[in-house]
Amino acid sequence: MEQKIKNMQHSPSVGLLPIDLERIRADFPILDQIIDGNQLVYLDNAATTQKPRVVINAIIEYYRKYNANIHRGLHYLAEKSTEMYEHTRIHVADFIGGVDPKEVIFTRGTTEAINLVAYTWGEENIKEGDEIVITEMEHHANLVPWIQLAKKKKAILKRIPITFCGHLDQSNINEIITSKTKLLALTHMSNVLGTINPVAELTALAKKHGAVVLADGAQAVPHLKVDVKSLGVDFYAFSSHKMLGPTGVGILYGKKELLEAMPPFNMGGEMIREVSFDHVTWAELPNKFEGGTPNIADVVAFDAALHYLEEIGMDNLRQHEMDLTKYAIEHLSAIPGLEIQGPREVEQRGGVISFTDNDLHPHDISTFLDSKGIAIRAGHHCAQPLMSILGKIATARASLYIYNNEADIDALVKALKGMRRYFGL
Ligand code: PMP
Repeated sequence: MEQKIKNMQHSPSVGLLPIDLERIRADFPILDQIIDGNQLVYLDNAATTQKPRVVINAIIEYYRKYNANIHRGLHYLAEKSTEMYEHTRIHVADFIGGVDPKEVIFTRGTTEAINLVAYTWGEENIKEGDEIVITEMEHHANLVPWIQLAKKKKAILKRIPITFCGHLDQSNINEIITSKTKLLALTHMSNVLGTINPVAELTALAKKHGAVVLADGAQAVPHLKVDVKSLGVDFYAFSSHKMLGPTGVGILYGKKELLEAMPPFNMGGEMIREVSFDHVTWAELPNKFEGGTPNIADVVAFDAALHYLEEIGMDNLRQHEMDLTKYAIEHLSAIPGLEIQGPREVEQRGGVISFTDNDLHPHDISTFLDSKGIAIRAGHHCAQPLMSILGKIATARASLYIYNNEADIDALVKALKGMRRYFGL
């Protein structure tokens, strides 16, 4: 598989090969690990995913053979580094539906991408009395910047509620999204409920009222084929580390007209055209938003992650995750005392499965599973307002990715049953 991916470097996506889980798992060295005598079962993919050997090797190879600062030098290494860095940008632009690479800005992650929009577009465009619409299932990354901006500008923060089943409740949507709406900021896929939101539909409504739309794609791009142009959004943010790539690389897609009109975010080297002691002009897109030395090695290695996903094919990946999510929900729901959050229909959700046990704290569940080598996450998942709506202080969360198999789910289910026996439940 890895050889094949290597041979494919810089070639277009072929996709739609049958999934060979054994071969895929063999590409992830970390999965081989025995922790405290237990085979590692990694089910914390919504937090971050593991890296295939091609990505790890790409980082090593970059530092061994090409390391130099980009855009500045006229020597071979600087030119090569620049070419590799810019190549990833072109690849990202293609991966999200064929946008102009100038519309792809590298950041440190989804959080920084959203903050970039809040501090630039938001500062300039949100005025007193304007309305910002968010949903009740937002991650703090797509919530706190808007709460703070609304406070500062005396704008109004409105929210789309959720239904009992974990969908967005659109029954009063025409009272929420109105001509006063300046921004709709919503998650494409919930990191707690797994819900896939109707971004295209809500964007169309927001656009009727002239609003700008930002979608948080941190949980969507890794798992679904995303075409930002057909979604119609103005801004779309996601992180490399949740899709097999390195940490420290985020992507902000923004429509050119908006990005061109926005002031810069980080000021310093690389983002200027001309500087005198009393006057500065900005560089063209995308450099205007990439002041300073970026995370070159990790951006370069992200290219290998994109190739890897393309080789599998996003449709195949999605099908595999739907099958496995169905299997997991079926088996987890059969455990007495366990309550699963979010929609049941796998077509409407991703493989993020939050659950609680009527008798045990999620932290105890996670600690018990850890003692069996199973990595899940427990807590509020950076969605405290959602937790309070669900009436929970925390949930346990198992989240899937391409290398997970039925044996991982079986291990989770067996350990959860064992846990209840252990606690005499
Ligand atoms: N939004 C969602 C839905 C997420 O799940 C996350 C990561 N947990 C983020 C935003 C923030 O991503 P990052 O930490 O990579 O900036």
